[in-house]
Amino acid sequence: MSNQNQGFTSTVLKLRFMFHEFYKSNPDSIDIPNKVHTREFGIQSWDYHWYCPKRRGRDESGRNTTTGCGQSGKSFSNLKECPKCGSGDIQTTTWRRHVGYLNRDELIKDIVSIAPHSVYHSAAFYKIPVARHMDEKEWSGAELVFDIDADHLDLPCAKDHDAWRCNAEGCHKTGAGTHPENCPDCGGASFSTRKWVCGKCLAEAKKHTVKLFDEFIVNDFGFDPESIQLNYSGHRGYHVRIRDPRVYSLDSSGRIQVVHYIMGLGLNTEKVIVTQGNVNRVPDRVFPGWAGKMADAIIEFVRNIDSYNGPERWVKPLKKGKIAALDGLLRKPPILSKEAKDIGIKSWQEIAEKAAEFYGGEIDRPVTHDIHRVIRLIGSLNGKTGFLVNPLTRDALDDFDPFQDAIALNDGQMKVKFLYKSPGVPRFRIGDETYGPYYDESVELPTAAAAFVLCKGVAIIE
Ligand SMILES: [Zn+2]
Ligand SMILES: [Zn+2]
Ligand SMILES: [Zn+2]
Repeated sequence: MSNQNQGFTSTVLKLRFMFHEFYKSNPDSIDIPNKVHTREFGIQSWDYHWYCPKRRGRDESGRNTTTGCGQSGKSFSNLKECPKCGSGDIQTTTWRRHVGYLNRDELIKDIVSIAPHSVYHSAAFYKIPVARHMDEKEWSGAELVFDIDADHLDLPCAKDHDAWRCNAEGCHKTGAGTHPENCPDCGGASFSTRKWVCGKCLAEAKKHTVKLFDEFIVNDFGFDPESIQLNYSGHRGYHVRIRDPRVYSLDSSGRIQVVHYIMGLGLNTEKVIVTQGNVNRVPDRVFPGWAGKMADAIIEFVRNIDSYNGPERWVKPLKKGKIAALDGLLRKPPILSKEAKDIGIKSWQEIAEKAAEFYGGEIDRPVTHDIHRVIRLIGSLNGKTGFLVNPLTRDALDDFDPFQDAIALNDGQMKVKFLYKSPGVPRFRIGDETYGPYYDESVELPTAAAAFVLCKGVAIIE
């Protein structure tokens, strides 16, 4: 085993031990989802389970051949070939799905003892949650869940803290930000990426979570805040779960409609943007639902029109008539300005449609569509950061600071070795302290900071 491999193995063992200690001392941090015996759990372990399938076939000259040895085992690194027979055709996974617990004690006992990398459970309730196939589980409803993740927000800070590396043998060029389509050195198109998370990412994710909660779920849909469970994901975002029996039976297509409503997709703006007398009007803000949001959505869109490069015929006149348009929209009641002369009612309807898409909530769609999706267990630790998956109330969300409030592992100091020459590991904050940037160097860090970089996979234990 190489030195670095040994480093990875001891790092994983150490993290697992730290998780174990945390769960042992804080079993009550773990949230027990209601009707726990009807939930499917998904457990992601620190090590890989590998399986080398034995296959019989024929080679070109018609001779019988066998590949693989049929054995299986565990490994701390993601193996590319079978350690027993060398076959390149092996299957590896860190996941265990279809796990079930009858009650709280069973769940807690298992989590304390295996101290997994990550724990998820179904938003759905099943008669037989441990059945291997979805159609045998007997689905009997699901919470309505939303995932707001900085990953999907396409944020400018990615270029400051994300990094990529070309996978081509002999090249391995690296760079900052999102990887190019083709490697500038070798033309290759396969990259490894290193995604980071910063205060800006999380502030942006929080902003979208607040909007989803206040404006859509409470205001428009009318759900009681008491039936909405909010939590920090432990990494780059937030989750919202609606625990109101009225949503449980919604099927996938019903959930798609909810997503489209929130994202402002497919609105029929011909009914809301109309000509009255000779004035083009947009509904007053007092109207419920999208009608009342329209004026604000168009204002936001017009304010940012200079950075919009769509091909529509109204783009140029709207850029020119921006000030006049904003003037009309800010009136009470708002009107669509006549000063912006070349924009007719048809164009305003199209502008409103675009504006709604920009204004709509940013959620990761498949998470809401998929009635079998698993979602992180609240009160567990996220193995990508070592942070706690905090439960939050709507009030607590405003002041919630993940880099302070989600710290779970913070006892003592640890020496770690950073692995990247360039680009280095970006500066990050834990509590009131800022750390880094770090290059390939050994550093003694408080445990909270050390656990974060070890979980992020950018350093190993020294
Ligand atoms: Zn094998
Ligand atoms: Zn390359
Ligand atoms: Zn960021």
